[in-house]
Amino acid sequence: MNSIAENLEKTGARIRRAAIVANRPPETITLLAVSKKQPVERLREAAESGQKAFGENYVQEALEKMAALSDCPDLEWHFIGPIQSNKTRDIATHFDWVHSVDRLKIARRLSEQRPPERPPLNLCVQVNLDNEATKAGIAPEQVRELAGGIDALPNCRLRGLMAIPDPANPPEVQRQRFNQLAQLLDEMRTSMDNNAPDTLSMGMSGDLEDAIAEGATIVRIGTAIFGARE
Ligand SMILES: *Cc1c(COP(=O)(O)O)cnc(C)c1O
Repeated sequence: MNSIAENLEKTGARIRRAAIVANRPPETITLLAVSKKQPVERLREAAESGQKAFGENYVQEALEKMAALSDCPDLEWHFIGPIQSNKTRDIATHFDWVHSVDRLKIARRLSEQRPPERPPLNLCVQVNLDNEATKAGIAPEQVRELAGGIDALPNCRLRGLMAIPDPANPPEVQRQRFNQLAQLLDEMRTSMDNNAPDTLSMGMSGDLEDAIAEGATIVRIGTAIFGARE
């Protein structure tokens, strides 16, 4: 098995190559290390190799890791899992980004509970592109209304859109899904005047090249960095 430092290096090289193929500056793409279910020592190894942004799906697990890594400077924490109402205070207090917002009620609570001394919480709206009943995320037709509601919240900043298209899709379908999300972001931007959202959170270990080709600005990578989860 490769070390985490080697995996980060390889993943960074994949991102740079995909950016060059897409004619995009590589520095416009952020590597989010998805560290759910990984022991904190592996996150520390990544942090010591220079990784700053970490994505977590479970609040309690994330808070424990944040506490254990409080000596690592400038880490950025992204919440990417389903959000329960009773967890919004912990999320609003401790995270920098939330990618998985799909209800205005949740966004309102996050704004109300964001500590005043912290900068606005960065939010992405999660979109369900495959129309899967079991998946989180809103339908594409609902994006504009939810985005308008979030844009009015004082302590949150609407940054863009996130999707987890079904990894079982064939590559050409997957690429279409990424393209759909990019178009939705374009439509959303033209419907707003200030703080134009700039973020497309899409692409995982198996499909980051297609996501970057379609405009991803954050790729969420777990397995390719940390190996299989327990
Ligand atoms: C687990 C997870 C990932 C990472 O998936 P890999 O295939 O391990 O890269 C990305 N995004 C979300 C929302 C996840 O839950």
